[in-house]
Amino acid sequence: MKSKKYTPQQVLKRLAAAGVALLGAVIVARWRGYSGFGGNTVVRCRKGHLFTTIWVPGISIKSVRLGWYRLQRCPVGKHWSLVKPVKESELSEEELQTARQNKDWRIP
Ligand SMILES: [Zn+2]
Repeated sequence: MKSKKYTPQQVLKRLAAAGVALLGAVIVARWRGYSGFGGNTVVRCRKGHLFTTIWVPGISIKSVRLGWYRLQRCPVGKHWSLVKPVKESELSEEELQTARQNKDWRIP
């Protein structure tokens, strides 16, 4: 019985496809106005707290993803909440500063 092995070319093709898909998600998000997508993103919890988090499309180990929302711990109110990315252009300078001062863990 022959075990199925991938040639280096096949592996590269798969990696390239995954990379393109991830890049596509980041580009679409940026195009929609979410400037920090794929890196530091300003999010708002259900109680209205603003903070920045690392939001990488499709990759997350510290939160439960629910489509555009995700469940994670809010570092401001110290509670669990659904959070959602907010457009920086929709925030006032003061809100942006608050959000930037509140950062959660430095891992996705
Ligand atoms: Zn909160």
